[in-house]
Amino acid sequence: MTNLLTKRLKLKRSTYEAMLNHVKHSIPKEACAILLGKIVEETAMVEEVEFVHNISGSEYKFSIEPEELYEILVKGEAKGLEMIGILHSHPITSHPSSVDCVYMKLNPVVWVIFAFASFEITGVSAYQYANDSLIEVELEFQ
Ligand SMILES: [Zn+2]
Repeated sequence: MTNLLTKRLKLKRSTYEAMLNHVKHSIPKEACAILLGKIVEETAMVEEVEFVHNISGSEYKFSIEPEELYEILVKGEAKGLEMIGILHSHPITSHPSSVDCVYMKLNPVVWVIFAFASFEITGVSAYQYANDSLIEVELEFQ
């Protein structure tokens, strides 16, 4: 895990499409995924996305099975990849909730948040909690 400030999250368009699909198919539940990759200077490079179960089964929150997360991190480490981001989705807004902010401080990686309304995705944003503030991270396609 890194505490470095990340200015942009770089990913392949196909990876982004896979994220969109996952979020769409999870509606009305919140979707979640772990982004594995590398930090190069101030850019987080997404290499792999591991879609995980939202064990809360909720429309309003998400939680990940610690064992599932551990396996993902071990598998990633074997490939030289670290957890560089967390993806989840929200109804209505892609801005982090107050609960998200608490976890963002604990996990200062890039948080990618998709917003949905009805069965459509209405927005996406990425943030990182660094230097005691919420900083917006730019999404960039490779
Ligand atoms: Zn949230």
